[in-house]
Formats: sequence, structure tokens, C-alpha cells
Amino acid sequence: MRRTYPLSMTVLSLLLAGALPVGAVQAVTWHPESVPQGTIFTITVAPDGEGVSRVTGVFADERLHFESSADGSLVALAAAPIDARGDLQLRLELVARDGGAESLTLPVPVVAGEYRMQELTVAPEFGRPQPPEIQQRINEESARAMAVARNSHGTPRMWEPPFVAPRESRITSGFGHGRVFNDQVTSRHMGTDFAGAVGARIRAPARGVVALVDAFFLGGNVLYIDHGGGLVTGYLHLSEHEVEEGDIVEPGQVIARVGATGRVTGPHLHWLVRYGTITVDGMSLLALE
Ligand SMILES: [Zn+2]
Repeated sequence: MRRTYPLSMTVLSLLLAGALPVGAVQAVTWHPESVPQGTIFTITVAPDGEGVSRVTGVFADERLHFESSADGSLVALAAAPIDARGDLQLRLELVARDGGAESLTLPVPVVAGEYRMQELTVAPEFGRPQPPEIQQRINEESARAMAVARNSHGTPRMWEPPFVAPRESRITSGFGHGRVFNDQVTSRHMGTDFAGAVGARIRAPARGVVALVDAFFLGGNVLYIDHGGGLVTGYLHLSEHEVEEGDIVEPGQVIARVGATGRVTGPHLHWLVRYGTITVDGMSLLALE
């Protein structure tokens, strides 16, 4: 299902008010129509004729990168944060060939994701603060991973759907499941866990550049790939990596091996997907066409 905005009165009046010719945009659509929280999705702008030269935009505080598709429409990825509720505003800037520009704001409905919440009856132990020097290390490592995600907005897009699953194996813990204590969400699983023995292969889901390889306190041996255009994937608890920082990887290429490094109880791959700084369900990336 696709939601279509065929020049609603709001859009029409904005277009009439601005420098763009009426009908500069045929439709703004997104897929899926109602976006589940914690997922990545696509936004399509269909220009009417040659009037629009460029579209920029922002959704959930992250920049959008529109690229021309074969049918002449402009398509961008966007992400809904897992804690988003209700309508989020999609802000678009349409730049005309004659230099004029017009802004559009459209509400995108974000709906609840199907995430399991486990009610805890006793206070969770894992909520205990770490010793200050450990907490500082965790914070610094987290900031470095987030810097990779932010920098990806400045990397030209290298990815092309369809995306390849990093492993073919069973998913042992899905994205987004959480624990609740006293009506407060105390923790969320912000990745997808794939089963695997130590040494099992992990594949790149798309073309990208290896942006970070290091040993982190929580994540153990980690590897992050910048796919460009705001898209980053991360691989945690590795036993080994098969590529180095700066290497270009291709879809399906073996990049690393499953391990049990960092804070884990057994070997598995924790896979994370980010659009900018928004961590999303990797399954929504694999579902993109
Ligand atoms: Zn995990």
C-alpha cells in the first residue's frame, strides 16, 4: 500500500504561493503507507515534468538524500525512531530549474511496531551503573560508532537494493524487544541476533566502505560499514574480521566471523542498522525493493 498526496489543498496552496509552477509535484508517497516505529522506509517524490531540479528534505531530524530512479521519480530512505508516536512531519524543499524553491510539510503516520515487552517484577540488575572509567569507555565507543553514522550523510550512496542478509541462520532475538519495570522501558534490544558458531561467515548486505574496526567493551570485536547516503550497518561480538578500515566491500562478501567477544553469554552475531543516528530493525532494510 502506498499513500498518495495528489496535490491536496495544502500542497496546492503551498505551490500556488511559491515560485514553483502549479503541479510541479505530482505526488509525494511513502512505503509502507503507515510506517512502523523502528523501521526504515522509502519516500518517493514524483515531479510533474521537468520543473523540479532537486529535492532535499528532513525526517525525524535526519537529512534525506533523494536520488533519481529509472521512472524519473526521486526516492530517498528515511527512518522512524523506535520511540516515535503519531504523525512525524516530513519536510521537503523543492528546488526549481529556474532557481525558485518551495517547502512542503506532510504528516507521516508512525504506528506501533510489533515489539514484545517483558514486564519485570524486580528492578533489573543490568540497569546498575558501571564503574566510572568503564562507563566513560562505553560512552566514548558509542560516540565513535554514532560518528560513523552521522558521517554517512556525507558519503555518496553506494548501496542498491535488494540487500543481502548478513547470515542465513535462525534469528535468536529480534529487534526492538524490551523490558519494562514500573511502566518504564528499561532496555531495548537495538539489533537482530543471528545464530552462529564461532567462525561462521558474516556477509556484507550491500556495497560500502569499512568505516570502523575495533574492540569495544560491550560489543567486543566490532565492524561498521558506511554504505553512504546515511545508511550504516554494524556487526558485534566478532571472532575475526576479514576486511580492514577503508576497504570497499561488495554485497555478499564475507567481511567477518561470528564470535562471542564483549558482553555476551554465547556466540552469535548482533547486527545493527542505522539511518543517520536512528537505529532501525534490519529486517525492514532487507524488505526494501
Ligand atoms: Zn543482540
